[in-house]
Amino acid sequence: MQQFRLGDSGPAVADVQALLHGLGFLPAVPDEPVFDAATDRALREFQQRRGLSVDGVVGAETYRALAAARWKLGDRLLSLATRPYVGDDVAALQERLLELGFDAGRADGVFGPRTERALRGLQREYGLVADGTCGPATLRALRQLGRKVTGGRPQVLRETEALHRSGVSLPGKVVVLDPGHGGPDRGATGHGLEEASVVEDLAARLEGRLTAVGVRTLLTRGSDSCPTDAERAAFANEAGADLVLSLHVDRAPSPLCSGVATYHFGAGRGTTSTVGEELASLVQREVVARTDLLDCRVHEKTWEILRLTRMPAVRLELGHITHPGDAARLADPAFRDTVAEAALVAIQRLYLPADLDPPTGVMRLPDFSTI
Ligand SMILES: [Zn+2]
Repeated sequence: MQQFRLGDSGPAVADVQALLHGLGFLPAVPDEPVFDAATDRALREFQQRRGLSVDGVVGAETYRALAAARWKLGDRLLSLATRPYVGDDVAALQERLLELGFDAGRADGVFGPRTERALRGLQREYGLVADGTCGPATLRALRQLGRKVTGGRPQVLRETEALHRSGVSLPGKVVVLDPGHGGPDRGATGHGLEEASVVEDLAARLEGRLTAVGVRTLLTRGSDSCPTDAERAAFANEAGADLVLSLHVDRAPSPLCSGVATYHFGAGRGTTSTVGEELASLVQREVVARTDLLDCRVHEKTWEILRLTRMPAVRLELGHITHPGDAARLADPAFRDTVAEAALVAIQRLYLPADLDPPTGVMRLPDFSTI
């Protein structure tokens, strides 16, 4: 092919300038299609970024790279075609598939049979139509999953992989419910309520709902026992649980403190349990959407029940027992039912494919029969 460099002009140069401008390398497209000094600088920067020879010449290799860079994931439908799709969008799709544990081979930016197989695998795992075409539904799923795998850290990948390997339906899952305290340890007390009793009752309500949708539900304690948090974590590990939900009620020295918070494992940057964080956000979101508890948000903690469990684990601190308003809510069986329903929906949402995920707060128990 013809080559272009500093001093050349014509429609092909205009094309290259438009591409460089679109990619953010050339601040403005000149009025005349002349390969000027600014175009030369922009082209060399592009070549350097892409690991090409930095010679300021648009040859075959550079032109191919420019043409490929034009495509961002989502710009067009991607599928296996006689003349394969080539571009940065294909490379991005391949990278994402690899991150999620689907073998797309090397991220070479060419949509070949191996890319198609990997894509179909992802679609099957997430309950999408396994048509091997990367369209809007698949893109939505990839975008959601993308947040879970940022950084590509091995622990994150393992967790996310375990999550998608476990499939998208609730029946067959094992959930460990961990009502805090118990036996002689009554936990926080206030306004005639005891934390140990409140969370035990809440666990029973949630257990009923989970069992009704086919989840095997195990409790870390009965009414009379109070295992340590390490023992509770070991119990969940031995049971091979998919999730752990630890239930507590908070207290504060001031009766003015109120609100609900959810915790997941994390000890600063890079150690967060991403699936745990996701579940914590879902639990918090659903509880806040369905009740009028103050939103005290989601936080990282290294508590043993979160740290020693090998599966995503979260701890709900459902309101402040020392706050008159929160205590009045906690005393109400209807409120506990609402919270149990919120927790159930949060757990279901964790496994739900992106396309089937209805807006927060609208899902009700009968909906599960249709999934
Ligand atoms: Zn507690």
